[in-house]
Amino acid sequence: MRNPIPPSGYYLCNRLGRIYLESLEETIGRNGLNALLNLTENGSYIDYPPPNDLHLGFDLATAANLNQTMEFIYGPRGARGLALRTGRAMYDRIVDAFDLPIGFNEFAFRLLPLHTRLKIGVPALARILTQHSDQTHRAVDRGTYYDYSIERCAVCWGQEAKTPFCHLVAGLLQEALSAFGRGQEFRVVQTECRAVGAAACIFRIDKDPIA
Ligand SMILES: [Zn+2]
Repeated sequence: MRNPIPPSGYYLCNRLGRIYLESLEETIGRNGLNALLNLTENGSYIDYPPPNDLHLGFDLATAANLNQTMEFIYGPRGARGLALRTGRAMYDRIVDAFDLPIGFNEFAFRLLPLHTRLKIGVPALARILTQHSDQTHRAVDRGTYYDYSIERCAVCWGQEAKTPFCHLVAGLLQEALSAFGRGQEFRVVQTECRAVGAAACIFRIDKDPIA
């Protein structure tokens, strides 16, 4: 097993940490999650999950250690699929737990044209995740796609790799796009990763759905 990643001093709010653990449980089951928590010396979360509040108390390194240990347990391919599913499972919980600042009620938002929904929805998600963590999320409009960048990405924090591996974020973005696109699926590809030497993790999100 690889060395544990030391505490970073950067945090997600407790509620996001809690959502991460709940989504992991949905994907790998209660026993799988407990094993993962014990292996990463986070066993105290088994009985005392992160509180459901906005205090910045869930270290980025905790998320990174859980992710790294998933790869140790399930292998790179297995871990990739599980991380994508976990990320997807996080989206609905995030929307339930935080008000997505889209400026419309849900009904009015759904009536907007697709590209307008993306133009409002993608930066709104970035704003929430920046506001409630020490990460910085940004969505840059590139015409036919968005570059969605993350500084201080929790998934790859403290690690080095040959190829990008922040699949949890890719899954979260896929599910967000699918919600904004009313069930259509969109291509999300990680093009840069801090663990591979880039300044930030970057995900390319196509604006048109997969045909
Ligand atoms: Zn990353």
